Amino acid sequence: MNVIASVARAVPRKLTGPGPVLRSIWLWRWILAAITLVATLVVFAFTLEAGLDLARRQARQRLVITEAVLRAAVNRYEYLPTVLALDTQVQALLEAVDAPDRIAAVNTKFEAVAATSNVSAIYLLDADGLTRGASNWNRPLSFIGASYAYRPYFTAAKTTGVSRYFGVGTTTGLPGLFVGKAVSGPDGRVVGIVVVKVDLEGLQGEWRAAGEQVLVSDAAGVVFLASEPAWKYRPFHPVGVADAARIQAERQYGDSTLQPLLDGEQADLAGVIDLPVEGRTVSGLVERAAMPDLSWTVWYVTPTGPALRQALLAALVAAIACLALAFALAARSQRQRRLQSERAMRLSLEQRVADRTQALSAANDRLRGEVAERERATAALRATQDELIHAGRLAALGQISTAINHEINQPLAALRTFLASTAKFLERGDLATVERNLERMTQVTQRIGEIIRHLKAFARKTGPEHREPVSLQATAEAVLDLLQARIRSEGVTVTCAIPAEAFVQAEPVRLEQVLLNLIVNALDAMRSTPERLLHLTGAREADGTWRLSVADSGGGIAKEHMGQVFDPFFTTKSAGEGLGLGLSLSSLIVRDLGGSIAAANDERGAVLAIVLPAAKG
Ligand code: ADP
Repeated sequence: MNVIASVARAVPRKLTGPGPVLRSIWLWRWILAAITLVATLVVFAFTLEAGLDLARRQARQRLVITEAVLRAAVNRYEYLPTVLALDTQVQALLEAVDAPDRIAAVNTKFEAVAATSNVSAIYLLDADGLTRGASNWNRPLSFIGASYAYRPYFTAAKTTGVSRYFGVGTTTGLPGLFVGKAVSGPDGRVVGIVVVKVDLEGLQGEWRAAGEQVLVSDAAGVVFLASEPAWKYRPFHPVGVADAARIQAERQYGDSTLQPLLDGEQADLAGVIDLPVEGRTVSGLVERAAMPDLSWTVWYVTPTGPALRQALLAALVAAIACLALAFALAARSQRQRRLQSERAMRLSLEQRVADRTQALSAANDRLRGEVAERERATAALRATQDELIHAGRLAALGQISTAINHEINQPLAALRTFLASTAKFLERGDLATVERNLERMTQVTQRIGEIIRHLKAFARKTGPEHREPVSLQATAEAVLDLLQARIRSEGVTVTCAIPAEAFVQAEPVRLEQVLLNLIVNALDAMRSTPERLLHLTGAREADGTWRLSVADSGGGIAKEHMGQVFDPFFTTKSAGEGLGLGLSLSSLIVRDLGGSIAAANDERGAVLAIVLPAAKG
């Protein structure tokens, strides 16, 4: 009933779609997803910005240092050509450029100075740009005899007195910074140029070792120093035609094709640029510093990867935190929902238990009422049964009343005769006979008294159940006494084998009633048989009970009646002789006394046996 009701309650909710609770759960999920997304994006943007900001600041600091180091490297040998331009041996050579001793003197000096100051080369050009002396005079790739008139460091120094020029050596193929200084003759005219070639390549190794990305570009925008070798001799953007032609003519960067470093889209060199590194592209924040006196620009590139990774990590942490918070909230709300449903379930269970208890107590009340009713009915039945038993007893009395009549009338007649004769004997003075008669009369009255006592006892209505030890022998004798007149008149031979110690726990009157029924039935059965034998036996059973058997020679109970003899109103006797209640009442009484009754046949007749519990104590 309850299950059907709960299913019926659940069905409409299912059919009408998700309830408000479900809708609010979905809403919350969307809100949490949106919050997570926004938080992740905000954290990402802020962290990235902060990371890039920090990288930019660090790049600026590093840039200042890098520029200072570069300037120091450039300026370190600034003095050297100036000093050498004043040297008398240099000037002497320029006065006589073919004098072998002067050439040798200058070569030796330049060689010694170059070795000491650690510059790549020192050489002396005459006014036409031809090399007259060189520190590498004795090397295979010596500058001696080579003309550098086309090189800007020569032309610039010739016109302005000094020059600084970065390029790849045409003889050695090695790059370097060429610093030129004009040597003036006595008339003040430029008679030659002292050139010092400074090697700046070592700086690149330092940048690389420090993990820094540094580039130095010239006025045309061509990178000539870089921490990454692949970036060298390449402009950021395509160089102009004039510049390209000039660079080519000056052979500034050897055979370089001047392939641009950046693709066309990255026009802006501020902010983030993508530089090619070993086949891949590295994004970096670019900061630059100009060196106007040299027309150079120093570029410092900071990779944005770490800042990006940091921002992604922070965003991930934020997302995880948001999700964890969302899960915690979801778990909490789920727990609350579970608690609610458990509470509801508990309440419904309690309600059900209360309903069931109520129903049970109602059923209990009903049952109590039924039990009381049954008790009343049982009591009524019991009363009816008692009445019936009593009626049965009276009926038995009625059956034997003729015999009893005879039994009482006979002594009364004898008494009368004795009285009459006693009066006569008294008149005669025969006192001895009178005394004998009186004795006999006393016996006769005792006999009458005995019979009446039995009848009274038998006919009285028994009160509430009262069991007591009853002697089977005495009961049998009393019943036989009641029936004595009939037994005698019908010539029945009675044998009684009941031990004196046979005592049972019973109601004496009822037990007598049972035995009377059995004996009367036996006498009835033997009426038409010539040999009439009634045999009473008492025997102790194995379980301690007593068996009392009444056997007769009346031919026994017909086989087909054997199953019915204890049924009420079953009788084979003619109307007025029997009611068919004797055995059924006897069976009732015996069962009431805690015993049993059974009917059987032996070779002569029927054997009715009752078994009763032995008397206590
Ligand atoms: P009633 O004696 O009034 O017939 P009972 O209940 O005492 O009622 O006996 C029922 C029937 O059982 C008898 O009518 C008879 O047929 C059979 N019966 C009882 N006792 C004997 C017996 N000793 N021998 C043969 N038949 C018996």
